[in-house]
Amino acid sequence: MLAQLREQILAGSAEEYLSRLFDRIDRSKLNAFTTLDRENALGQAREFDRSPRKGLMAGIPIAIKDGISTMGIETTCSSRILKGYIPPYDAHVIERLKAEGAIIMGKTNMDEFAMGTSTETSAFGPTRNPWDLQRVPGGSSGGSAACVAAGEAPCSLGSDTGGSVRCPASFCGVVGLKPTYGLVSRYGLIAYANSLEQIGPITRTAEDSAFLLDVIAGHDPRDSTSAPAAAKGRYLDGLDGGVKDLLIGVPDEYFGEGVDPMVEKAVWDSVSVLEGLGATWQRVSLPHTRYALATYYIIAMSECSSNLARFDGLRYGRRPGDDKDWHTTFSEIRSAGFGPEAKRRILLGTYALSAGYYGRYYLKALQVRTLIKQDFERALEKVDLLASATMPFPAFRIGERISDPLSLYMADIFTVPVNLAGVPAISIPCGFADGLPIGLQLIGRPFQESLLLRAAQAYQATTPHHLRTPEVA
Ligand code: GLN
Repeated sequence: MLAQLREQILAGSAEEYLSRLFDRIDRSKLNAFTTLDRENALGQAREFDRSPRKGLMAGIPIAIKDGISTMGIETTCSSRILKGYIPPYDAHVIERLKAEGAIIMGKTNMDEFAMGTSTETSAFGPTRNPWDLQRVPGGSSGGSAACVAAGEAPCSLGSDTGGSVRCPASFCGVVGLKPTYGLVSRYGLIAYANSLEQIGPITRTAEDSAFLLDVIAGHDPRDSTSAPAAAKGRYLDGLDGGVKDLLIGVPDEYFGEGVDPMVEKAVWDSVSVLEGLGATWQRVSLPHTRYALATYYIIAMSECSSNLARFDGLRYGRRPGDDKDWHTTFSEIRSAGFGPEAKRRILLGTYALSAGYYGRYYLKALQVRTLIKQDFERALEKVDLLASATMPFPAFRIGERISDPLSLYMADIFTVPVNLAGVPAISIPCGFADGLPIGLQLIGRPFQESLLLRAAQAYQATTPHHLRTPEVA
């Protein structure tokens, strides 16, 4: 689709196409965007129409999660504490997109500092699910998934610390890819939990996911965890190779209690589809799965408590009120600037890192993380990829879970182990339950995104789920 869109824009008008998107957004009830860079973007489109540039993304608009730094465009992480912050530089991924001729149309709504599974913790209010406006779009990159599903943007970027690209992709019926840790530079991604997160594409198809990954992946010396240049593949090449040679593992621990039967059925149906295309499958075990949520949340909250210490209203964003002594000013700014979920996580993370508890919680979590990583290594020695549901159930109602944080955290059971292990995973639409999209998660070996995308492409070539679009919006 993106490749065809580029040709259409070249033959037609980038400005016209972009104006249509902005018109759609103006009429939308989704609240998918926090900032629109309308004048600039339209100016760039006009300029493109006058003298077309070359590049993979030539003239193609893209929406960017508000946690990714964009030079000259307000970047708030959907938090009051960063209101008014305009980054003086671009994230690596934004540099790459611009170098390929993409037009940044605006910033998308998210859970505050990417902490959440529903986009309800945003200071801008929740984004709505285009399939049912009373439901959440998933999170934390809810705006990025909702706008693509509703045709308000042809593609977007999100970030995934514990599922934040895959969860909203699953809830909104689009494709979301979490790359291998280190494949995409985190330079300019405002950190939530550095050791877990990656920026990833949200698109309508696997092919478009490959297309965007080709643009954003690659070595960057400014991110000390960036993988060597050789780790990057050519993701559009070999996309049509099929699945005949693939052995798929289905993890025992990813089925059963707490999983919606309609979701389970959709996953098994998908495995049958892949089998029909020539793949084989077998059951595998990831025995430490039941420790994954506790491990993830201890590590993520510990890292966030340290990362969020830099937001004191002095260096970034606005400083409300008069200056008093340092302690009072600092706590007034942070009390007013952070929402309840960010505060909860700062408190819990600080506790987990404090003297006397560090060994009991944080260190223990790091040890269990190694066991979880080994689960994946062992399973992926035997099979080429793993298949499961992305989320245990379809999108829930706005307000249904937000007052019970634990029930929200539990929803991440199939996504967080992937981040703990650092392996790549993709969510693709695989069916509907009462009109709500269901996502299939495929998990691969480190740096084998090509294989994941190839399987996703084969699946999409024979199934119609990704072609359905929501009626609302
Ligand atoms: N829901 C998870 C969390 O709240 C994942 C968020 C993310 O991937 N950014 O931490």
